[in-house]
Amino acid sequence: MKVSALLVSALAWMGVAVFGSFGSQEAKPGYQDTPRLPEGKWRVHDSNRPQPPQVRPGELTAPPSDALVLFDGSSLAAWKSGTQDAQWSLIDGAMEVNGSGSIATKAAFGDVQLHVEWMTPDEPGLQSQAKGNSGVFLMGRYEVQILDSFDNPTYADGQAAALYGQYPPDVNASLAPKAWQTYDIFFRAPRFDADQVIEPALVTVVHNGVLVHHARPLLGATAHRAVASYSPHADQLPLELQDHGNKVRFRNIWARRL
Ligand code: MG
Repeated sequence: MKVSALLVSALAWMGVAVFGSFGSQEAKPGYQDTPRLPEGKWRVHDSNRPQPPQVRPGELTAPPSDALVLFDGSSLAAWKSGTQDAQWSLIDGAMEVNGSGSIATKAAFGDVQLHVEWMTPDEPGLQSQAKGNSGVFLMGRYEVQILDSFDNPTYADGQAAALYGQYPPDVNASLAPKAWQTYDIFFRAPRFDADQVIEPALVTVVHNGVLVHHARPLLGATAHRAVASYSPHADQLPLELQDHGNKVRFRNIWARRL
């Protein structure tokens, strides 16, 4: 037995994971004599439990290899406005709100991981909800607010990263106007049984790398000056970006279905 094989045997005996370069002819690392986990299918450290698929992370905020790229700076092809092609302006590798109305993805999503980068314009004369307003509408109805909230008081559940009209973010992680900001959103769609919501939507939001909502249960579809409520809808629906009249820019938008 070679030294490397001896080492593999020793490591395996100690329960240490043994991988590729040590030789694939060895038994899979793990155990078959450990107790079963509560859901019954797998043992603790089960050697037969499937390995998660390997995904190469993107550099910085570039899309990971299994992402569906919704906007890479070059084209609005993934977006529509009503039944027409999206008409937002393409400027400097970004798309910009231009008064042509909100836009929606041609693809539909349910449970999703979503990365969005956005920038509010410098609008010194404006305030509160009139300043840098846009929004990410999950399923076209659950808004993660976009606003200039760097130095711009507004009602707490309407500031940037608020789940509009329901929950302020835990902290204000906003950057100044004309700085690129990021949202990483993890969304679990609501579940319906006929007319009843049986599990609310759950939203996790990371704003500029800071967790601001963790699995927050939504009260329903975003409403203005009213308490949100649910109406049953399809399992998958387009994502929407809001045209609220401010020249907000977006870039580097990608999604992973969950
Ligand atoms: Mg908005």
